[in-house]
Amino acid sequence: MQNHDQTASLNPILVQGAMDVEIETLVEALSDVRVKTFGSWTFWEGQIKGYPVVVSRTEIGLANAAASTTLGIEHYKPKFVINQGTAGGHDPKLFRGDIVVGTSSFNMGSYKTEFTEKGQGMHPTQWQNFDMTMYLRENGEVVKHNHFKADPELVKLTMSLASSYDKGQVVEGVIGTGDEWNREVDRINWFHENFNTAIEEMETSAAAMVAEAYKIPFVSIRVLSNTDQHGQDFEPQTAIDCQHFVLNVIDELIKAQ
Ligand code: SAH
Repeated sequence: MQNHDQTASLNPILVQGAMDVEIETLVEALSDVRVKTFGSWTFWEGQIKGYPVVVSRTEIGLANAAASTTLGIEHYKPKFVINQGTAGGHDPKLFRGDIVVGTSSFNMGSYKTEFTEKGQGMHPTQWQNFDMTMYLRENGEVVKHNHFKADPELVKLTMSLASSYDKGQVVEGVIGTGDEWNREVDRINWFHENFNTAIEEMETSAAAMVAEAYKIPFVSIRVLSNTDQHGQDFEPQTAIDCQHFVLNVIDELIKAQ
């Protein structure tokens, strides 16, 4: 086992979850834990199999996810960022307990509307998701992103462990992020049909945006904790099962270093 001095020179794996139930299992897996809080965002610094791992509680929503990812990257210079946690199902083929490995994510809550006169009402199905919802400046130039891609190697490594997960299937898919919790099944289907969303949640695209700005390999691994496609309500145990799977991914990632 390496000590803190030896591991200090290695860039850690930063692994994120929004709520306590989404990080507690990861924190328990760490040895030599030190806790640091910056503003309202807490980080657990530790090791897994002698490799440095930092668990980050992002808190809920896009702004929290962006702030905590920026802090995590600036303080720890991670080699990889893994976002994980719960999500709601959009794809009717998926059930509670299934895991989606996000090949891409986008800000699902970013809209522009066409001008209509007073009294002409509101037409949510006509609202257009901005073609370019996320702006990053790269080498002095503004680059517009309508989605962020996960690191293909991280997706591959995660998918290679699919058969080790026995609580459901593990599939690749698109993650829609918004400060929203949608339960209208017609709206859920509208997202799925128009944007190919497998799931919705509230953090991934914001964390992915910051990781992209720093060019740090990123993946989001999300379990369906609920899906109105099948009348399945939020089940916190799914968050724990997801963390056990993510710990397998972390083990494999450490072996590959
Ligand atoms: N159950 C909590 C609220 C959780 S807020 C409470 O009542 O206090 C939602 C959190 O769970 C976010 O971090 C989000 O990423 C995730 N999530 C799970 N299912 C979701 C869904 N159907 N829609 C949006 N976010 C969801």
